[in-house]
Amino acid sequence: MSVVEEVVHHDLCVGCGACAGVCPRGLLRMEWSLSGELVPTQNDGCPESCEVCLSVCPFCYSVLDQDSVAKSCFGGASEVEYDETIGYYRSCLCGYSAVSGQREKGASGGMATWFLASLLEQGKVDRVIAVGRGESPGRMFSCQVAETVEQVLDCSGSAYYPVEFSGVLKSIANDAAPLRYAVVALPCVAFSLRRAMAISPLLREKIILVASLVCGQLQNRFCSEYLALEADVSLADLETIEFRRKTPGQDPANFAHVARGRTHGEGRPLPYQNIPIHLWKYRYFTHNACNYCDDIFGETADVVFMDAWLSQFSTEWRGTSLVIARSQLAEQLLAEGAATGECKCESVSVETVKRSQQGVIYRKRNLLAARLYADEREGITHPRTRVTPSRKEYQHHFRFLALTRAIQKTSKSLWPRFRDNDDISGFKRAMVPLERKITAYERRENLKLFVKSLLGPVKRWLWHR
Ligand SMILES: Cc1cc2nc3c(=O)[nH]c(=O)nc-3n(C[C@H](O)[C@H](O)[C@H](O)COP(=O)(O)OP(=O)(O)OC[C@H]3O[C@@H](n4cnc5c(N)ncnc54)[C@H](O)[C@@H]3O)c2cc1C
Repeated sequence: MSVVEEVVHHDLCVGCGACAGVCPRGLLRMEWSLSGELVPTQNDGCPESCEVCLSVCPFCYSVLDQDSVAKSCFGGASEVEYDETIGYYRSCLCGYSAVSGQREKGASGGMATWFLASLLEQGKVDRVIAVGRGESPGRMFSCQVAETVEQVLDCSGSAYYPVEFSGVLKSIANDAAPLRYAVVALPCVAFSLRRAMAISPLLREKIILVASLVCGQLQNRFCSEYLALEADVSLADLETIEFRRKTPGQDPANFAHVARGRTHGEGRPLPYQNIPIHLWKYRYFTHNACNYCDDIFGETADVVFMDAWLSQFSTEWRGTSLVIARSQLAEQLLAEGAATGECKCESVSVETVKRSQQGVIYRKRNLLAARLYADEREGITHPRTRVTPSRKEYQHHFRFLALTRAIQKTSKSLWPRFRDNDDISGFKRAMVPLERKITAYERRENLKLFVKSLLGPVKRWLWHR
């Protein structure tokens, strides 16, 4: 059995490329699928008994789950605490980079860039693997091996785009030089890196720090194409997208997506909250694997960066990051940065971190429990997760789940029909029936909330009489 039959054929691949990076015979290659996702394709000759690819796949069950990996990485130290939702932690911090330009350029407070650059600057690592502008055709973003602080800075910002790690895993393992690496990755990729490190002594020796970003979902390539056309940048001209441009004086949560063409320059900025379809909330173009992710806080990473989505930070347009430090190296670097003033950080409680991420927690706990229940009823294959299927959650969320599932599938199957002619109007017209259902659903939900808000005081009044 290989990852192609077990994972790709069940539409459960997130495209991380770890399988192709560790395949002992080099039989797997990451390529675009027809539905806009990076997936491994396999040449002939894969021996039945190997299964190395499956042993690193984040969506293929193994005894090496996030709990056991995290426990072996962080569980032993007396300074480390454990929380069921955020996993192991030494400290939780809130802050931003005070190094000129990093905060403004970063997705939130620029803390990830500051941290990775400091690792290089202080000689703790020799290379940083980050995500930046892709160099090969058809890959708008890809892994970059940064040797200098400037190269790390070039990679700041968030890429809502498929990025695979097969090439860097191969080059780290094959490089004869004893270089030390830090890698930044999404939670599923951090987990697959840890699993790859478990089977490869070379990777284990050379990757000395894994950083993660909190992730709500990963959209496929079609999402970027949609944003480009919505911004009036043709796909033939599309060069890159800045997914999170902040605007002075505005709420950092309402960042703009800005597509840029090679010849025609920047397109119309698209504020996150004004996209004409329900792109993010109803999971247009999202990988199916993301529906089954139960790792909210990159539990296997040494350090995790995320947005501080709390009202007290909404007036600071340059953005604020939350950080969870799990390893000693991460905690020490952050403490030194705060002491020298390179970053402005203060401790926050675990509850504050959870409050900030309640949307992601809800999706990866409540909605996942409902989805698993629905799948089991319908006989749909799903990966093993640490969440238990729940009938109660299903009863609560089945309409929302049905809508997101329909949007996800339909958007991916319809987009290729329209993209070749840059026909965004045709695509939006084809999505109208589902968009109408969303509007009707939201109206009903809002009405329910309104009635509930009225009934609450009435009930309380009756109770007190
Ligand atoms: C697909 C995706 C979904 C996300 N969802 C959420 C969410 O729901 N809630 C939340 O709080 N935060 C989410 N984030 C994280 C958030 O966007 C910021 O990256 C995080 O807050 C760190 O901000 P910063 O300013 O400290 O990072 P920056 O200083 O901007 O540095 C970010 C670092 O991450 C690297 N990077 C960017 N994109 C990727 C990628 N696709 N894979 C691996 N590395 C990458 C960059 O190369 C850079 O080194 C998501 C990020 C991504 C890429």
